Amino acid sequence: MKTIKDAFKHVTGLLGEQDISIGSEYRPISFCALVSGDGYRAAYNSLTGVLLLLDEAEFTILNSEKVVADDSTDWFIKNWFLVPVAHDDMQLRNEIVDFIRTINVSDGKLRTYTIFTTTDCNARCFYCFEKGRKYLHMSDEIAEDAAVYILRTCMDKINLSWFGGEPLYNDSAIDIITDRVRAAGIEFNSTMVSNAYLFDDEIVKRAVEKWNLKRVQVTLDGTEEVYNKVKAYIYNDGRSPYKVVLDNIDRLLDAGISVNVRLNMDNYNYENLKLLIDELYNRFGSEKKFAIYSNMLFEISSQPGSCRSEIERKELEQKWMDLEERIFKLGKRHIKALPSSISLNQCMADSENAVTILPDGHLGKCEHHTEDRFIGDIYSGITNTNEVELFKVRVDSAPICKGCKIYPSCVRIKECTTLKISGMCDESTRYHREKMLYQSIAKYVEDYISKSE
Ligand code: SF4
Ligand code: SF4
Repeated sequence: MKTIKDAFKHVTGLLGEQDISIGSEYRPISFCALVSGDGYRAAYNSLTGVLLLLDEAEFTILNSEKVVADDSTDWFIKNWFLVPVAHDDMQLRNEIVDFIRTINVSDGKLRTYTIFTTTDCNARCFYCFEKGRKYLHMSDEIAEDAAVYILRTCMDKINLSWFGGEPLYNDSAIDIITDRVRAAGIEFNSTMVSNAYLFDDEIVKRAVEKWNLKRVQVTLDGTEEVYNKVKAYIYNDGRSPYKVVLDNIDRLLDAGISVNVRLNMDNYNYENLKLLIDELYNRFGSEKKFAIYSNMLFEISSQPGSCRSEIERKELEQKWMDLEERIFKLGKRHIKALPSSISLNQCMADSENAVTILPDGHLGKCEHHTEDRFIGDIYSGITNTNEVELFKVRVDSAPICKGCKIYPSCVRIKECTTLKISGMCDESTRYHREKMLYQSIAKYVEDYISKSE
């Protein structure tokens, strides 16, 4: 046996070594994920973060329903890969995570700023969740003040995430903020959610040299005809927006910026997205920094009648899984790295270290709230701690969570719009999420093996 990924120190520090009762019955902890690949066997404990390479006999132990404790099981018991048959695994995880949360006292410094440079956009997607909201544009003066706020509150190394509307509709705010942060000597990277229409050679150059832009998420809705219709850009210059955007994806990739294409799927474009996946694969498939993922089109809670029935949602989920499977098979699904510590929060909304900065200088916690749920502003800082606390209220586990390999790091917050609409996992979404974990494990092991050859 060989440990190829170390433990989450704060978890194993609390757990210590498990006592062994020789002759008693044990079973694999429900957070133990086994992976068999080309010439290897591996086991990952998603509670402790330990990843092992195993021989056949060791793999058989962790693949058994029950084992009796003896010399061959010692290490697995001490290190929480095996637990007593009646052990409550979920309770153990809950106690550990609750305890870590209580001792993890934040010093108030922030790491991630999601900055809405504008809520205006050059596209008019029929499904936009910001539709009907006021267009707000961050003035140069507010961008200067936002930079002052960032410098007053930030850690030594930060991430700036540009969001909108279409963030490139106000690149002046991006220039101002990144110039000030750089001048202050703060190390930073940035990411962006953009439709990518407005990139050109000059902007890409600035994005690399000034904005430290590392990744752009670009949404595509279908092949040329479908995309151009859905996006309904405001321009009428005879150019095909689809072609413009695909050329810009090329530009970004050539400049070393990762592109993660998000496919927004609904019944109307499901078949067409299969064609799009092939088209994207043919054009960008060989690019290491290019990835695709799909998601079901967000249901807009504020628009009556837009919510799907339970049956419709289930049918659509199957189609979504089908698209995801196609992307996996092509090797273009972004595979997340295994975490270096257990997750204590779901997203920026319940993180101690993240805020959104809105175009008018308000601060918030969730990217879906641009007009309400403010927690303060860039001049007075975070003043509405009640709102901050509301975003930290987590949802209890559901029966489907029992035995789920993701459970140790799965955090769901009550105020999340997505959760409110789609609810907790059903079997297919749990399967999908667990599959992504298995992919991450396999990638880690395969990278490890190829490096050691
Ligand atoms: S991924 Fe889904 S099933 Fe698994 S623990 Fe999280 S909510 Fe539960
Ligand atoms: S919508 Fe949900 S996941 Fe997204 S930022 Fe808000 S709370 Fe987090």
